[in-house]
This record gives sequence, structure tokens and C-alpha cells, in this order.
Amino acid sequence: MASHIVLTSHPRTRPGQQQAIEWGAPSARERGPLIASMSQPNHRNAIGTHSGAYSLYRALAVAAGNLQAGHRPDLSNTAPAVPIGPFPQWNDPGAIVSLDPWGHRATEDFAHLIAAGIDIRPTIAVTKAHINMPELAAAMAAGRLVPDGDILAANGDVKVTKAAIDPVWYLPGIAERFGIRESDLRRTLFEQTAGMFPELVTRPDIKVFLPPIGGMTLYLFGDVTKLGDPATKIACRVHDECNGSDVFGSDICTCRPYLAHGIEICIEMAQQGGVGLVVYNRKEGRALGEVTKFLVYNARKRQKGGDRAETYFARTECVAGVQDMRFQELMPDVFHWLGIRRIDRWASMSDMKHGALVAAGIEVVERVAIPDALIPADARVEMDAKVAAGYFSPQGTPAAAELEIAKGRGLHE
Ligand SMILES: [Zn+2]
Repeated sequence: MASHIVLTSHPRTRPGQQQAIEWGAPSARERGPLIASMSQPNHRNAIGTHSGAYSLYRALAVAAGNLQAGHRPDLSNTAPAVPIGPFPQWNDPGAIVSLDPWGHRATEDFAHLIAAGIDIRPTIAVTKAHINMPELAAAMAAGRLVPDGDILAANGDVKVTKAAIDPVWYLPGIAERFGIRESDLRRTLFEQTAGMFPELVTRPDIKVFLPPIGGMTLYLFGDVTKLGDPATKIACRVHDECNGSDVFGSDICTCRPYLAHGIEICIEMAQQGGVGLVVYNRKEGRALGEVTKFLVYNARKRQKGGDRAETYFARTECVAGVQDMRFQELMPDVFHWLGIRRIDRWASMSDMKHGALVAAGIEVVERVAIPDALIPADARVEMDAKVAAGYFSPQGTPAAAELEIAKGRGLHE
């Protein structure tokens, strides 16, 4: 352990000493590398550090003596399994503000600096995989999906390319997206994280922040090299994490059925020569977290009159203070990263997601609603509430009388 503590509020470098970051520059080298390693404080040109919330586990590993504080990763053979970009959108400093478009290419674009000993790390990794979900077998049995022996095998295996993306926030761009002052954004981030990152307020010259939050995973179906070609048809589901439903099949919401339905549509599109894309955001419980979510479930089931659509959002607001903290304003960034300007089939009912895409200049051709048969009985409250609040549904809005009716299981059933 070092004998003295280095406070980031009293840094050893002054403005202008680090390698500059020119966000939106036409090439990675002109943009400059992001250096957020804690082992080279004199080179750091970003606030925060790598791996989001997992940086705390890294700290624990160092504290426990399992990891050397100055460990530098050996990045041999870690380059993307499939190339992505560069696309013209990467050169627009306002188009992508919540991830580093060059983040998967760091070992290639900055090989010379890494070789010279600078600790530069990728913030995006791209690999290949096979996935399989029981819903796909059901879709094949029902004749909705037909195996082709390549993208979809008869045993339900699906070939995918997947990308893991850590958030990288360009603070002036984030502030602009929300129509607030950068100084107010920085001060609030500092205060609301209990002063976790002093450089937010002491180093206004450092514009990039790696926030300690979850990132996203992309699952791509079909030929990824066709992305960026305007002729390529795209099917897409943007899915915000719901561990209870996505993994454990909990029946109070429609998350896993919607995810499986989105994957089905993506496979179909890939089989027709297009590209399917599932964006999986780590924004559990509308980014309120699972503890808040379960508190709301209890409040919904215990309230006078039972769980019903007309009070669905109010119960969330009672506990969390807001209905939703997912901020779809940042969601379109990933489409700019993939060079996508048009989505031909959009598997989502959310008016917020749809509105954010359209505001970002991405055309949505067809909105695909989830088939009614795939909605669990206990999730009826959620579906009715969302449609009444403006979510897209081909059946139209339910009547007010319908929203008053308690539906689904009781708390102890
Ligand atoms: Zn859910």
C-alpha cells in the first residue's frame, strides 16, 4: 500500500497536462484515448474508472490482497470478433454522448500508446455466441419460427454476435441532451453520489465521466457487417432489465415474454437477410432498482381495492418519487453507434422509447405489439396501465371502468 493518500480533489496534474479528448473528432487518434486507470494518475483524462459498479469489487480485491493495485491487463487476442464501424454518426459530438464509439477498438487504435506502457482499456467488447431459450422451441412448434440450419438450428440454438458496453458519459453532451447546464449536472452528480467523484466539481476541464452504473449488452442476429448499409432491414427490441421476469419467469410483468417475442422477430429478420438487434440495458425496475420494485409490488397488492391499472403508476411514485428513471433520452446513442438510421420492425409498446428514437432522427417503420396470448394473467394490470398512459397497442386504449378492476394474484397467493 502507498504510504500517502492521493485525493482526486487535489490532483497532481493541472489542466492541459493530460492527453486531450476531442469528443466527436473524425478518428480515434484525433479524438484521443480515454485513460481512466487508477494506476497511472498522471495520465488520467477521465473521471471515474473502468467497469462501472464492478470497480468496487476490484477495490475489494485489492484491499483483500488478491489483486495488485497496479495490475495492467494483457489484452492480446481480445479484439472484436466482428468489426463494427466506424460510421459517420461517430463524428457528431452530439449524436453519441453516453458511450465511447471507439471503445471496442482501443487495442488497435492506440496500440502504440499501450505498447509504450499507457494503461488504456476497451470500454466495449464484441464476441460471438449461441443462445437458446425454451420460448424458441415453442415458437418453432407453433410454426412461427422455422429452423434454417444456420441462424436458427433445429435444436433451438441461435447464432448471435454480442457486445458488452460500459457507459462513458461526455458531460457537456449529457447536459445538452437534458437541456441543463453542465455545471449543474456536475454538481448534482457530485452531491447525489455523496461526493464520490470530486473531479466533477474541481476539474471542469475533464469532460468525460465513467459512471459506476450498469451498462448494456447487445445481441445481434444475422450478418453484422451489413449494418450501416441503408438497404439493410433492421428489427429491434430495446429491453430494460427485469431480473425477476427475464431470468426467473416471475409472472407479474410482461418482460420475459416481450424479450422472447423480440428475439423471435430478430431471428425472422436475420433469416430474411436483415439484421436483428436486442439491446439489453442494465436498468432494473425502470432504473429504480429491485428493492424499490419489490416495495412497490407489496404496495400495489396491499392497497385498498386491490392491484389495478388506474393506480399502477401512482404506487411507484409513492415509493420512488417518480414513475420512471430510465431516461430514454440516452437510449438512441447505441443506434448511432451501430450506424442505424431506420428500424423496420420495432418490438416495443413504449411511447417513451419510440419518442426518444424519433427525436434522435431514427425512423421507425412498423411498431410490433406483443401478441395477447403471450401476456401472463398477473401482468394484465401493468399492460392496461401502460396502454392507458399512452403506450402503443393495436387494440386501442382500455375503458376507464376496465382500469378500476382489480386483477392478478393477491399478495399471498
Ligand atoms: Zn418485468
